[in-house]
Amino acid sequence: MSEIRQYDVVVVGGGPAGSTTAALLAKRGRQVLVLERERFPRYHIGESMITGVIPVMEQLGLIDELEARFQRKYGVTLVWGSDPDPWRVSFGQAGRYDHSWHVVRSEFDQLLLDNARRLGVEVEEEAQVVDLITAADGTVEGVVYRRGGHKHRVTAQFVVDASGQSRAVSRKLTEVAWQENLRNVAIWSYFSPFEPLSNGRQGDILVESVKGGGWLWGIPVAADKLSLGHVLPVDLLAAKTAGGRTQEQVFEDALASSEVAAKMIVGAERVDVVRTTRDWSHICDRFYGPGWLSVGDAAGFIDPLFSQGVWLGTSGAWMAARTLDAALNNAADTDRALARYELIYRQLYNEFLSFISFFYDPTRLRQIYMERAAEAVRDADGNLQGGFISLISGIKALPDVAGFDPLGSEVLEPERA
Ligand SMILES: Cc1cc2nc3c(=O)[nH]c(=O)nc-3n(C[C@H](O)[C@H](O)[C@H](O)COP(=O)(O)OP(=O)(O)OC[C@H]3O[C@@H](n4cnc5c(N)ncnc54)[C@H](O)[C@@H]3O)c2cc1C
Repeated sequence: MSEIRQYDVVVVGGGPAGSTTAALLAKRGRQVLVLERERFPRYHIGESMITGVIPVMEQLGLIDELEARFQRKYGVTLVWGSDPDPWRVSFGQAGRYDHSWHVVRSEFDQLLLDNARRLGVEVEEEAQVVDLITAADGTVEGVVYRRGGHKHRVTAQFVVDASGQSRAVSRKLTEVAWQENLRNVAIWSYFSPFEPLSNGRQGDILVESVKGGGWLWGIPVAADKLSLGHVLPVDLLAAKTAGGRTQEQVFEDALASSEVAAKMIVGAERVDVVRTTRDWSHICDRFYGPGWLSVGDAAGFIDPLFSQGVWLGTSGAWMAARTLDAALNNAADTDRALARYELIYRQLYNEFLSFISFFYDPTRLRQIYMERAAEAVRDADGNLQGGFISLISGIKALPDVAGFDPLGSEVLEPERA
C-alpha cells in the first residue's frame, strides 16, 4: 500500500456529476482529486440533454465546445397519450434557451473531465475505489483505491460519491429506496442512416409509447446516426422472453409496432451491438454524512423518460461544490450546508420523479399531462404548454439551482413528492 496523500476533496467517479463537482471546486481554489475506474473515452448511455444543463455548462466554460461538437436538440416529439398523433414541445416555449444538445457520451464525458484537469483538478484514471478510510466515530476520512495492481490511500476533508449507479461509497453508508412503479429495463442500439423527424422536428428527441407496453426513444446523436432504445417493465420483459423471444427480438418487435420510430429507420442498418441495462429508479436515504456526500446517479436515479439525468447530476454538482466550499471555509457551517444541499437536491429529484410517475400512464389526454405539469410550476400564468416544457427542461428549477446558497436562511418550499 502506497503512502497517504491529502486533498481538500476526493471525488469518486469522473462522469458528469464528478467532473463538474471537481471542476467547480478547483475554480474556487480547492485541491481536488478525481478517481475514475475506467480509462476515458469510455462508452456511456444518456445522450440527450435538456436546456437546464446550459447554466452549469456556462459555469464550466464549455458552451462553445458543445456548440461545435454536438447535434442541436430543439425539443421533444411525443407519441403519447390517448390522442395517437405526434405532438411536440419546444425548448423555446420555456423562454430562456431554444436548444440544448444530443451528445456522444464518451466524447462529452471526456470533454468535461479534461476541462476539470485544465481547471487544476488532479485526475487518475483506471483507479477503482475499493474501500473507505473512516475514523473511530464513522467519519469518512479518505478512500482506498486500486491502480496498476497496487492499493493506494488518499485522505481528504470530504469524499464525494459520484460513482453513478455503482454507489461505490454510499452503498456502504446508506440504504436505497427503489421505486416499484418504475422497475424498468432498457434495450438499445444505433442505426444508420436514418430519416429525420418531419415538419421542423429534426433535432427533437422522439419519445413514443409502445402498444405492447413501455416506450421508445429516438436520439439523433450524429447527422447519420440514430440512438434507438426501448424501455419496458422488467416483469413484462421477463414474460416476453419466457415466451421464447430474445431481448433483441423484443426490441425489434417494439420497433416494428411503432408508428414513428419504424419509419425513421426504413433502409437503415443497425451499426452497433444491442445493449441492455437495468433502469430502475431509486433514491438513497441520505445524500451525506460525516465527511462525505453523494451526487448524480450515486444519490438517486430516475427513469430517463425526460432525459433529465445529466441535468440532475450536474445541477447537484453545482450545488455540491458550493456546499463543500462553504464547509471548507468554516467547519462550523458543515452540517447546515450539507443539510441544505440534501434538502434542495431531494426536492429537484422528487419533483421530476413525481411528474414522471404520473406521465408514465400513456392513456391520459394530452391536456391532463399539461395541467399536471402546470400544477408543479410555481408561477403558472395560465400558459399550460409553457408549464410543461419549463418543468421537463429543468428551467423551472433553475432559480433553486443557480441561486442555491448553502448557508441561506430563507424558508424553503415543502417537499412536493
Ligand atoms: C437507459 C438510459 C437512458 C438514459 N438517457 C439519458 C438521456 O437521454 N439524458 C440524460 O441526461 N440522462 C440519461 N440517462 C441518465 C444518465 O446516464 C445518468 O443520469 C448520468 O450518466 C449520471 O451521471 P453521473 O456522473 O452521476 O454517473 P456516471 O455517468 O455513471 O459516471 C460515474 C462514473 O463513476 C465511475 N465509477 C464507478 N465506480 C467506481 C469506483 N469504484 N471507483 C472509481 N470510479 C468509479 C464510472 O466508471 C463512471 O465513469 C439515461 C440512463 C439510462 C439507464
